[in-house]
Amino acid sequence: MICSDEINCLDLPNFVKLGTCELEINSIEIFKEIQDNPCLTCGACCAFFRVSFYWAEADDASEGGIPVHLTEDLGPFRRVMKGTNVVQPRCVALEGTIGNSVLCSIYENRPSVCRTFELSWKENVHNISCDEARNYYGLAALTPPNQNDPDDPGHYPRAA
Ligand code: SF4
Ligand code: SF4
Repeated sequence: MICSDEINCLDLPNFVKLGTCELEINSIEIFKEIQDNPCLTCGACCAFFRVSFYWAEADDASEGGIPVHLTEDLGPFRRVMKGTNVVQPRCVALEGTIGNSVLCSIYENRPSVCRTFELSWKENVHNISCDEARNYYGLAALTPPNQNDPDDPGHYPRAA
């Protein structure tokens, strides 16, 4: 399907750019979702923090849990996502290019800490940790919507 919306072209590696503002994509809905969700063009928090959780969240203890082969032990009661307990972390489940196009390969089974980590200004709540991770990768912090301008969504700028 060809998207020729009058919208900014996102230079995403998985899509074939056909013209100034045309992309060959599976569906326009996917394209709009990418526009509306800055996490899909970010991924900074998945490569900035140690991602630890109670050991029993993994699928050797909880059906449908985190794939245990993607985790490491962290003491007697906790585990971490592989790749995140190092000086320069990057979760083993993160696919894509940070600041461009990313996805979590275990999204439906991700740890609770990932489920509760919200992007900054979602429902008007500032998340400094989101800002910190984005800043590390040279991405501008998300901003709150302009209360005086209903047409300004504010909090969902394009990733730089
Ligand atoms: S750092 Fe913020 S915007 Fe980026 S993926 Fe994480 S929650 Fe989303
Ligand atoms: S499990 Fe998924 S959401 Fe959590 S840090 Fe890894 S890639 Fe990110």
